[in-house]
Amino acid sequence: MKDISYILNHLGEDRDKYFGAVAPPIIQTSNFSLPSIQHLRDAMMNELDHHLYSRGNNPTVEILRKKIAALEETEDALILSSGAAAIATAVIGLVEKGDHVVCVQNPYSWTTHLLDKFLPRFGVHATFANGSRIEDIAAAIQPNTKVIFLESPNTMIFGIQDLKACSALARQNGIITCIDNSCASPIFQQPTRFGIDIILHSATKYINGHSDVVAGVICGTKALIRQIFERAYMVLGPILSPSDAALILRGLRTLPIRIERSHSSSMKIASRLAKHPAVLQVIHPWMDDFPQKELVRRQMSGHGGLFSFLLHSTNSEKIFKFVESLDAFLLAVSWGGHESLIFPVAAVHNLPGKEAPPFPVNLIRLYIGLEDAEVLWSDLEKGLAVFLD
Ligand SMILES: *Cc1c(COP(=O)(O)O)cnc(C)c1O
Repeated sequence: MKDISYILNHLGEDRDKYFGAVAPPIIQTSNFSLPSIQHLRDAMMNELDHHLYSRGNNPTVEILRKKIAALEETEDALILSSGAAAIATAVIGLVEKGDHVVCVQNPYSWTTHLLDKFLPRFGVHATFANGSRIEDIAAAIQPNTKVIFLESPNTMIFGIQDLKACSALARQNGIITCIDNSCASPIFQQPTRFGIDIILHSATKYINGHSDVVAGVICGTKALIRQIFERAYMVLGPILSPSDAALILRGLRTLPIRIERSHSSSMKIASRLAKHPAVLQVIHPWMDDFPQKELVRRQMSGHGGLFSFLLHSTNSEKIFKFVESLDAFLLAVSWGGHESLIFPVAAVHNLPGKEAPPFPVNLIRLYIGLEDAEVLWSDLEKGLAVFLD
């Protein structure tokens, strides 16, 4: 059993080196001097594990790197300037021209963009499969499939993939599995336990948790991390600054407390919404009526604050009135911070020049932050009254 308290409070920190300071120093430097030619040669041979230049490795960022790898139970990790950079850098580091990727349907929008628009320009193509059916994933595999890309639970509608079945299928076919694990966080789901190779997060969400940094992480074996580092990370340069890494280290200290609070408040609000006359259906993986409930309980130990619900009404005007009437929920994209958010899919239907999203107009996504659940509920209840007259 890993000791999360040790990881969050001590692992990777070498306080003797910096006057016993409890908070790690921000080593704000681009460059490092070496004491001898031999040291310089060693560092040039292995930039990932030495301090040569901050595009490769920086001591403040490295503390975060060690903690994240330990949380995900992997040998190593890379820290990047966004979750989108983590997804793109990982996939680019794993594929060659002519390779194929199988991905779950409707992943995070910029994952779709990477696989459907960006990588085809370089001769890498993708097939999107129904992630809740292992037969569909198996059927999408081609002789040149190099990567299976999972996102469980996935964006907006929280579809779950059977991670053990997916990793077994991939192994039989010599394929590497990647998962976007942002939604479950490293607290509620450890994909390595089910044989997944590469774990990705938007650290912008729960890991930092304070809505003041955009960042991402890639976790995996030393060999895979080194491959991604040498073939993509050093070329693309998607690094996080030491000061942003220090902010994330601060946010990380409270990760379990924050996500447990979001989880319990979201359960209270989801169960009340499910009984509300304006609500058609609540989509929350931890609720008893969630279709893949058994798989959820096998793979995850909690869910967090993000869920969706469908209204009976498809009247956009009324939906906008409801959303704009709220005081305790901010109208915004993203999630995972201290503050509760609402995102109505109706807002992004009929955007000039944009494809319609693959979700219905009456779908609302909520993120439950750290506020008092009763305050949040009374705000929602007041707003939902617009649908009742
Ligand atoms: C936000 C998000 C991302 C992208 O992360 P950024 O840090 O915004 O680049 C990727 N995957 C999921 C599931 C997300 O919610």
